Amino acid sequence: MNYDIIVVGGRVSGSISSLFASKNGADVLMIEKHQEIGTPVQCAGGVSDSFFKHMEMDPLSHNICTRVEGAKINTPDGNSISAKNKGLYGYILERKLFDKDLAIKSADAGTDIMLKTTLKDLIIENGTVKGVVVRHNGELIEIRSKIVIAADGVESQTAKKAGLDTHFKIEDLCSCAQYEMVGLDVDTNLMEFHFGSNISPGGYIWIFPKGGNRANVGIGVRNSPGNAHYYLQKFISQLNATPVEFNVGAVPVGGPVKKTYTDGLLVVGDAAGQVDPLTGGGIHISAKCGKIAGEISAEAIKKEDTSSKFLKKYENSWKKNVGSGLEKSLKYRKIFDKLTDEDLNNLLKAIQDQNLDSVSTFSLLKMVKGYPQLLKLLRSIL
Ligand SMILES: Cc1cc2nc3c(=O)[nH]c(=O)nc-3n(C[C@H](O)[C@H](O)[C@H](O)COP(=O)(O)OP(=O)(O)OC[C@H]3O[C@@H](n4cnc5c(N)ncnc54)[C@H](O)[C@@H]3O)c2cc1C
Repeated sequence: MNYDIIVVGGRVSGSISSLFASKNGADVLMIEKHQEIGTPVQCAGGVSDSFFKHMEMDPLSHNICTRVEGAKINTPDGNSISAKNKGLYGYILERKLFDKDLAIKSADAGTDIMLKTTLKDLIIENGTVKGVVVRHNGELIEIRSKIVIAADGVESQTAKKAGLDTHFKIEDLCSCAQYEMVGLDVDTNLMEFHFGSNISPGGYIWIFPKGGNRANVGIGVRNSPGNAHYYLQKFISQLNATPVEFNVGAVPVGGPVKKTYTDGLLVVGDAAGQVDPLTGGGIHISAKCGKIAGEISAEAIKKEDTSSKFLKKYENSWKKNVGSGLEKSLKYRKIFDKLTDEDLNNLLKAIQDQNLDSVSTFSLLKMVKGYPQLLKLLRSIL
């Protein structure tokens, strides 16, 4: 078997890379180790409006659970503030359906898909990646290609096999656990966040509404004495709701890996650390980088140049598009790491009576003028 491009991993970054490579004329195979695209889910499904605009697609009604118009923030002392804000408009997606729809889109554009197919090794000749060795139906098969795109998530082995350092430090991995629950009393248009060192050390708890009395209730923790599941159990024990799905996963929140290309190979999505370090959101960024990876791979095929010199264009382009945002976000995350519960309580008190639609850098600094510690922190980031 021969393809122009083989994409390893069949979720957001894999399907979007495949879609845009196929759309641009390349002969593409996408492989996925699971038997179904999109399962098991490892996501809360929150995505902004701009995702669909950037991907040049319309949201499909059957994979949208609810429309999001704002957020409710709960601080360690039990206070809360709700805000509806255009910047927060988006959707909570039924991620397993959404991922499958993305794969269907790339299949429609010409991508071949092999399920239950696990990458075992890369074919490397004279230092250039020339294809993959996969396990499929119990057999090891060699499939040759001119480019391999590693879209195999946070536990990616593909890029490492090509000699790239895609290792994430343990302190930069957010460990997550989530229940989809029924019976909750939630505002169906607000994402809810809970902060506090006792309830979610190094991270936060989210409640993302899925319509009616249903929501994803999840947690991300870092450098914590207990694991994510322990804190989640503690939190949900106060809720009068019952679980219908349980997911776990990790999110790399230390910023992107150093190098995302080599001869005949690109790395994209969680595998490349292309995740917002502050929020842990990766759908939109993975997709943006996947689009660039697909387009540049297809261009490399047309120009018959799959050298690392040419493929560097991918890294230059994603850095131009999302690089400074990721850098800023990492800086904010490091500052957020330093906030005490008291700082968080004070920050909320300071902004409680403000119209969040009109918050500017100056007004934020004015709001927290009574809290010298916060003022110092905000001055360093704004
Ligand atoms: C609990 C949780 C909640 C989250 N909530 C949100 C959210 O609300 N909003 C948001 O924007 N982001 C969220 N994220 C982050 C988001 O899910 C990821 O950033 C995004 O899914 C990355 O997509 P990806 O395609 O790069 O990787 P993945 O989604 O990890 O997909 C990788 C794929 O590769 C496959 N694969 C792996 N190894 C192999 C192999 N050897 N051979 C073949 N296939 C392989 C896997 O089976 C998988 O299908 C969340 C993450 C977690 C863990």
